[in-house]
Amino acid sequence: MRIAVVGAGMAGLTAALRLQEAGHDVEVLESGAHPGGRMWSIEKEGLGVDLGAHMLLSSFGRTRALVGEMGLEAQWFEIDGGEGGGVLHDQELASFSPKNAFDVLRFRGISLGGRIRLALTLLEARRWLGDLDFFDLSVGDDTLDTEDCDSFARRRLGDEAMDYVVDCFIRTFHFHGARRMSAKYFEALSGLLLSHGEFRPCALRGHMRALPEAIAAGLDVRYSARVHRIVRGPRSVEVRTPNGSVEYDEVVLAVPADGVLPLLQAPSLQERLVLENAVSSCTVLCVYTLPAEVAGDFEGIWVPFCESQVVSGLSNDAGKGSTDGKRSVFNVWLHEEAAAKLLKASDLEIQRTVAGEIERLFPRYGKHLTPLHVQRWPHALPVYGVGQVTRVRNFWENGQGQGNVWLCGDYLNHPWVEGAVRCGEKVAARVAG
Ligand SMILES: Cc1cc2nc3c(=O)[nH]c(=O)nc-3n(C[C@H](O)[C@H](O)[C@H](O)COP(=O)(O)OP(=O)(O)OC[C@H]3O[C@@H](n4cnc5c(N)ncnc54)[C@H](O)[C@@H]3O)c2cc1C
Repeated sequence: MRIAVVGAGMAGLTAALRLQEAGHDVEVLESGAHPGGRMWSIEKEGLGVDLGAHMLLSSFGRTRALVGEMGLEAQWFEIDGGEGGGVLHDQELASFSPKNAFDVLRFRGISLGGRIRLALTLLEARRWLGDLDFFDLSVGDDTLDTEDCDSFARRRLGDEAMDYVVDCFIRTFHFHGARRMSAKYFEALSGLLLSHGEFRPCALRGHMRALPEAIAAGLDVRYSARVHRIVRGPRSVEVRTPNGSVEYDEVVLAVPADGVLPLLQAPSLQERLVLENAVSSCTVLCVYTLPAEVAGDFEGIWVPFCESQVVSGLSNDAGKGSTDGKRSVFNVWLHEEAAAKLLKASDLEIQRTVAGEIERLFPRYGKHLTPLHVQRWPHALPVYGVGQVTRVRNFWENGQGQGNVWLCGDYLNHPWVEGAVRCGEKVAARVAG
């Protein structure tokens, strides 16, 4: 079969790779100048900077397998956590770098009562295990997809554990609050903590771009090929770009959710239902350098919304090798509320606002920041909101692949890089099967 994969992010690249391996004639059409989408890195002043996906986890089984297949196994490493990380609490750093469920329970940033409630909730979560998969939220039943994560977990955990652990986690890794997230996500996240028993941050030597670059090298990828229309015909699918149109037997549409509907001529009802309700969070990544002796070797800091309404998290990338011995890369991500206001501001204005907030929160770093890069992400991560998890599951069952057009990406119940990889593999298996 002749197959077009539109979008060379991790979902599209993985789908293309698996379809090519199955013997199909695959072309990847990418609007940008490089592969990777939201998993990309640049070099600035001799320092590597990961712009999107920042770390991988030891539980990313399919991503790890892909890394091995691409001959990059030696490049995979566990990030040296140094002094570890922490959560900002009353302007003090409470040590926290959870690698497993027990670390969560040892967290001194919340009272003993809060920790006991966390333990009880995790015990309760054990009954959900078995039919849960964090990287495929379609798995398991959808009972909890009728309530938001904030009200569901706040009832069980109380305000303290909610604000400083659950909401804080979601904000650090998704940039938006738990109120916008389905309780189904909380259930699956508890399952991830309990079933994998570990949560170790990992990275790639050569930075995140190493993986998409290696996959793309073995594929026929056309860059600067922005697709603007997909037209389903009786026997084939027409893909239109500014350079003309080409007919394919099947099309995998692996672009972010917000970009799909404008491409589809006559979308089906099921496609509309999923895509019109697909929303994403936004953030801004502000990259600075810090003198190595000031940065020390802490891993990362989660910043709860009740402590700062600007900064959601920060990391010191010395442990990822982003240091020249004198300076280390210091990343700051913003809560979506602050990012939404700053997306259109100049780099200078963003850097000043963020540096001012870092100085207030962390005076020891604030005075030493030197701006290196600003990256705006108007569509950073999908929001797995209440009801959307179920809509997406129904789409997989009844709407996927209509007229030989397949949707693919992390917004289809597949969080993070591991989710995007799994989604690419799932779509490829359905197309080929
Ligand atoms: C700031 C940030 C931090 C993150 N941190 C982490 C992390 O630490 N760990 C983790 O696992 N995940 C993280 N993620 C999430 C992770 O990066 C994504 O879940 C994953 O990369 C999504 O892959 P995808 O293929 O679904 O989409 P994308 O990577 O967005 O790929 C879509 C591709 O389609 C292309 N495209 C769009 N429109 C068209 C068109 N019309 N024609 C042709 N091509 C088109 C785009 O250029 C892009 O290359 C982070 C994301 C962001 C933004």
